[in-house]
Amino acid sequence: MEKIDIKSLTLSELTEQIVALGEPRFRAKQVFEWLHKKRVFSFEEMTNISTKFQQLLDSRFYINSLNIAKKLVSQIDNTVKYLYELRDGEFVECVLMDYHHGTSICISSQVGCKMGCTFCASTIAGFVRNLTPSEMLDQIYFSARDSGRKISSVVMMGIGEPLDNYDNVLRFLELVSDENGLNLSLRHLSLSTCGLVERIYELAEHRLGLTLSVSLHAPNDKIRSKTMPVNRKYSVDELLKACRYYVDVTRRRVSFEYALIRGVNDSEKDARELAARLRGMLCHVNLIPVNRVEETGYHASEQDGVVRFQNLLLSLGINTTIRRTLGADINAACGQLRRNRHNFKR
Ligand code: SF4
Repeated sequence: MEKIDIKSLTLSELTEQIVALGEPRFRAKQVFEWLHKKRVFSFEEMTNISTKFQQLLDSRFYINSLNIAKKLVSQIDNTVKYLYELRDGEFVECVLMDYHHGTSICISSQVGCKMGCTFCASTIAGFVRNLTPSEMLDQIYFSARDSGRKISSVVMMGIGEPLDNYDNVLRFLELVSDENGLNLSLRHLSLSTCGLVERIYELAEHRLGLTLSVSLHAPNDKIRSKTMPVNRKYSVDELLKACRYYVDVTRRRVSFEYALIRGVNDSEKDARELAARLRGMLCHVNLIPVNRVEETGYHASEQDGVVRFQNLLLSLGINTTIRRTLGADINAACGQLRRNRHNFKR
């Protein structure tokens, strides 16, 4: 019988499994706390349950863990970038960043990505598989343990498209916010999507309180379809309609990510068109000087061009910030560590 990934089970699922093994319901809560609060590596460490039951659990379940394959620490601002090896030998990345409000972690949701955004390193080697809920959680648990930092917010903006791994991500959200575990308020979590429109409508219905962050990166279909193949399926109009719906249902502001690429999407005309499209929506635009990835041939807009773009949006009534660059000295763009490792393995 194949063992079950116990850390991916929600408390109610774990309770069902444990009751089926003849144990009382409260036992499930004890086991859940060992996994998600004390974060043990083996059933033997669960000292308030009998040895016999520890062995029974060990025969039915496994406890996921990760190996640190590489760790880069910024000498400038203490940003830490981890490359983790998964149980099957695949790799994912995550990044810890210190802000004035606490430490934030950016996690991956898939091994690789099938969305094909032309400016992104994560998609170059293609898609391998979805991450399990425990593999997403363990990026947080292992990074917190290794760094000794208390993580106060989570950003799902690493490798992968979270809404393309929808069921596992929903389960992860339930686990990460469980009061018997990490107990993270979902108000401190941002989920980033390239714009899978049906999933945005579905997610809105869950009214989870998280921040939806949409990778927009273009003011119109012409530019967006060139840089983001997903736009050939869902137009900018359809995407923004879904975002307006999300705001109406959840009363949460949507955040639009806009990576400024020199000569592609950074003109005054682009800024005006973007402002016209977003006018009246409860939203925020986050401008990002695009990361340099050799294969893409893209270059970041000049700093004064970024500021001009921001000022124009602000003058047109669009709440806009420029993302602070952290970890500049370890600034492999998202997906590059894994890709280098991948090339190395070959
Ligand atoms: S930007 Fe996000 S959705 Fe697009 S290819 Fe990269 S990881 Fe995938």
